[in-house]
Amino acid sequence: MNTFNSTTIRRDFPALQQQVYGKPLIYLDSAATAQKPQCVIDTVNAMHTQWNANVHRAVHYLAVQCTERYEQARETVRRFIHALSAQEIIFTSGTTAAINLLAFSFGERWVGAGDEILVTEAEHHSNIVPWQQLCARKGATLKVAPVDDSGRLQTDALAALIGERTRLVCVAHISNVLGIVNPVKEIVQLAHARGVPVLIDGAQGIVHEPVDVQALGCDFYAFSGHKLYAPTGIGVLYGKERYLEQMPPWQGGGDMIASVSFAGTTFADLPLKFEAGTANYIGACGLAAAIGYMESLPAAEAHRYEQALADYTVRRLSAIEGLRMYGAATPKTGVVSFTVDGVHPLDAATILDKSGIAIRTGHLCAEPLMRRFGVHGMLRVSPAFYNTPDEIDTLTAALQKVRKMILF
Ligand code: PMP
Repeated sequence: MNTFNSTTIRRDFPALQQQVYGKPLIYLDSAATAQKPQCVIDTVNAMHTQWNANVHRAVHYLAVQCTERYEQARETVRRFIHALSAQEIIFTSGTTAAINLLAFSFGERWVGAGDEILVTEAEHHSNIVPWQQLCARKGATLKVAPVDDSGRLQTDALAALIGERTRLVCVAHISNVLGIVNPVKEIVQLAHARGVPVLIDGAQGIVHEPVDVQALGCDFYAFSGHKLYAPTGIGVLYGKERYLEQMPPWQGGGDMIASVSFAGTTFADLPLKFEAGTANYIGACGLAAAIGYMESLPAAEAHRYEQALADYTVRRLSAIEGLRMYGAATPKTGVVSFTVDGVHPLDAATILDKSGIAIRTGHLCAEPLMRRFGVHGMLRVSPAFYNTPDEIDTLTAALQKVRKMILF
C-alpha cells in the first residue's frame, strides 16, 4: 500500500468506530452506501440547528442564508464535475430519481413509436427499468449491448446497435457488480459520431474516477450523494443546457413555475424547472461538505490507495478454493463480486455478519447480469479509502471458515 494513511482517515468516520455483535465493525459495503465523515454530519446538524428555512421563497434572513448555501452547493457540484454552468446541475433525490426524470422528460420530448433506447447488459436496474417503462409508454424498443465473459462491454457490438432510430445511449461509468470502468469517453465519441446523445450512470463512477463532464463530452451524468460520503436523499442530474432547455418539466408544483393561472402555467428557468417542491437543501449542503472533504484529501494518493486495496482484495480472495470472481476485465475498481462453490451467498453473508463483517449479497440490483453469468446472486465486497488491508485479511480468513462450516 502507499503512504495514504487510512488510520487517520478512519477517525473522521464515527460509524466505523463501533462494534457489532461485540466485534469491531468491518464495513465493506460502501458501493451500497458510504459512511459519512464528521464534517458532513456537522454540516447537516448546523443546517438543522442554525440555517433551516425554505429556499427560494421568503425574504427573511434565514431564508436568504439558506438559499445562498443551497445555490453555493450547486456551484460546488458544478465545479466538482466541471460543468459549464450551474444551470446544468439539477438536484434530485439520487441517481434513480435523476434517471427517471430524464426518462420522462427526454422521452416526452424526443422518443416516439419505433424509436430505440440503448443500454448495456451490465446496468443497474435504475438504468434499465425507467427506459423499459418509457419504451412501453411510447411503443419504443430497448436494445441491449452485451458484455463478454470477462465482463467487458463489447463496444463494437454497442456501436453496431446504434442506428437511425436510436435516441439515447445509457451506460454505467463503473459497473456496481463488476467494478469495471467502461470506456465512456470512447462510447460518447462513437454515439456522437452518429448524432446520438449519451447518459452516463455515474453512481459508482463519481466515487472512484475524477469526473469532467466537458472532457467526457457526455450529454447527461447522474449520481447519488450517499455513495460519495454525503447524506441520503440527494443526487444530481447533470445535463447539457441545450438539451435541458428543450425538455419539458417532469413534476409540477412549487418552485418550478414562473407564473400560474387557471388559464395556464409558465415554468421557471433552469435549473428550477426540474426541481418541483421544497428542495432537499440540507442534503445539498451535506453533499457540498462531502465534496469539500474529498477535495481535502490527497486525491492521487487516495485513488492509488483504493486501487491497491481493491487489487489486494482480488489477490487475497483468489486464493480461496472454489471462489469464483466475476469481471476479470480491467480497469477495475471499487467492487469485487464473487460466489463460492457450494455456498449460498446469503448463508455466507449471514455468517460473516456475525463476525462484524458487512458485505452485500443478492442480485445486486442487476438481475440481467446475474443471468448473464448463470447465477442467482453474488457476494460483493466494496472497499473504500477508510478500509485497511488488515480488514481484507480478516474477511479472507472468515470466508475460509464459512467454507469449512458449510462444506465439511
Ligand atoms: N446505478 C448504479 C451503478 C448504482 O450502483 C446504484 C446504486 N447501487 C444506482 C444506480 C442507484 O442509486 P440510488 O439507489 O442511490 O438511486
